[in-house]
Amino acid sequence: MSPATLSAAPARILVVEDTSSYAEALQQTLELEGHTVLLAGRAMEALARARAEPPDLVLLDLGLPDKDGYHVLRELRARGVECPVLILSARSLEADKVEGFRLGADDYVTKPFGALELLARISALLRRTRRAAPAAAAVAELPAGVIRVLDDRELKDRYALTERQIAVARLIAEGCTNAELASRLGLSFFTARNHAEQVMLKLDVANRAAVGPMLQESVVIADRSRGAGPS
Ligand code: CA
Repeated sequence: MSPATLSAAPARILVVEDTSSYAEALQQTLELEGHTVLLAGRAMEALARARAEPPDLVLLDLGLPDKDGYHVLRELRARGVECPVLILSARSLEADKVEGFRLGADDYVTKPFGALELLARISALLRRTRRAAPAAAAVAELPAGVIRVLDDRELKDRYALTERQIAVARLIAEGCTNAELASRLGLSFFTARNHAEQVMLKLDVANRAAVGPMLQESVVIADRSRGAGPS
């Protein structure tokens, strides 16, 4: 049993782990929390499963028998899969974490870790995703033409963004990763990541997907049904 604070709404979780005893333990832990678990022991199998049954979250081991976890992550992001990815790894080197984040991982735990820590991290990632989703969906549902992209002046006034941060924010809204930000803006990866973090802080958003909607606003238009009413 786990504390209520750790529980999240049930999700479909893809567990990519080649050590079967480990995979089974994860499956059991997650299923006890009410989640549905898809297991994959190889990178290619993970990609096939993710395609067939899009997961809400991926737990990704880095050391896999065919290709490594980085390959899986890169492929998922290249296909536009935006769900949170939490890397599980025995590697504790800083460079591995940086590479994982560079490729779009959302969190990282180093083995061995406790079940409670893992569940807490999963819940936090799922909550963030679900908080961001309704805002994005609401924006998407508005008819075309009533969404206006804020100009630089407005972004500066509203969020106190610097010129550089405005450029970063617009690229994040386009879906750029930190590595892409770095190459598009001619910055080091670390500088790009710092800018991205500052932008998210100033916009008060928990993830990159939530940046785009913050750079837009819906334009209040006159009630067209009244204007076009019977004459
Ligand atoms: Ca492994």
